[in-house]
Amino acid sequence: MHITILYRGSLISCNYGCEYCPFAKRQQTAAELAIDKQSLERFVNWVAENSQHQFSILFTPWGEALIQKWYQQALIKLTQMFHVNKAAIQTNLSCNLDWVEECNKERLALWATFHPEWVSRQSFLNRCLELDKRNVRFSAGVVGFPQFKDEIAALRRELPKHIYLWINAVKRELPNLSDEDRNFFESIDPLFHLNTQHYTSFGHQCRAGKSAISVDGDGTMRRCHFIKELIGNIYDLNWSDNLCDRSCINQTCHCHIGYVHLEYLELEKVFGSGILERIPINFQPLK
Ligand code: SF4
Ligand code: SF4
Repeated sequence: MHITILYRGSLISCNYGCEYCPFAKRQQTAAELAIDKQSLERFVNWVAENSQHQFSILFTPWGEALIQKWYQQALIKLTQMFHVNKAAIQTNLSCNLDWVEECNKERLALWATFHPEWVSRQSFLNRCLELDKRNVRFSAGVVGFPQFKDEIAALRRELPKHIYLWINAVKRELPNLSDEDRNFFESIDPLFHLNTQHYTSFGHQCRAGKSAISVDGDGTMRRCHFIKELIGNIYDLNWSDNLCDRSCINQTCHCHIGYVHLEYLELEKVFGSGILERIPINFQPLK
C-alpha cells in the first residue's frame, strides 16, 4: 500500500517572523526542541520498520525545521529507504545546504518559500541556484500580496526558467485583488487560479484518511491537517486498519496540501509525482 504522510511535529519556532505567519510566533526552549527531535526520530524509525508499505512524506512544520539538524538527518535517512518514494519539506531555505549531499536526491524534494520582508531576494535566489546546481528537485514560491509584486517579478526573471514559481493566493484578500494584480499573478504562476478556490468538499471522496494521513509528534493520525477528528495512532500495531474510504466532512478545502487529495479534482493529472512539492508535470519553462 502507498501512503502519503503529512508530518507536523511540535516544532513551532522560526528564525523569521513574517507578519502574515499564522504560527511560529515564538522561540522554543531547548527542552521543547528536544521533544520535537525525539518525536521525529521515533517517526523515522517507524517508517523504517514499516517497509511493507511505500511512503511519500511531506514535512509541513509550524515553523522553520531545516535549521534544526534533526530534520536534515531525518531527510537523509528517509531518502535512503528503498520503500520511501519521496521525502519533501516546506522551508524558508535559510539553512546551509551541505546536508543534501548525504541524501538520495532522487527521493528528496523541497517546497521553498521566499519571504521578501525577511530575506533579500539575492540571498533566496542564491540558495535556489545552489539547490539547482546540486540537482535537488524543488519548487519556489511567494505569498501573493500585491506589495510583493516587484520582488516577485524580479525573482521570476532571475530564477532559472525551468524552476516553477508558485504564488500562494491570500484567500481573505482575493475579493480586493484588482484584475491587474490577478493577471500579474497568473502571468507568474500559470496555476494561480487553482489556488484561489474554496473547493466544495463536503460529501466528496478524498484520499485523506484512506491513502493520505496527517501525523503529529505523538503519532496521532488525522485524515488531514484540516479535520481535527482522530483516526488512530501510527504507533498502534493495527494502525493501518483505520485507513478506509472517506468523504470529507468540511464544507470546503482551499489549501494545496489538502485539496490535491480531493478525488474529483483529479489534480494528480496536473502534478503527477510532484504533488507533494507542488511541481506540475507539464510545467513549461518560461521563454
Ligand atoms: S518563514 Fe514561514 S514559518 Fe517562519 S515566520 Fe515566515 S511564514 Fe512563519
Ligand atoms: S477535502 Fe480537504 S478538508 Fe476534506 S478530507 Fe480532503 S484534505 Fe481534508
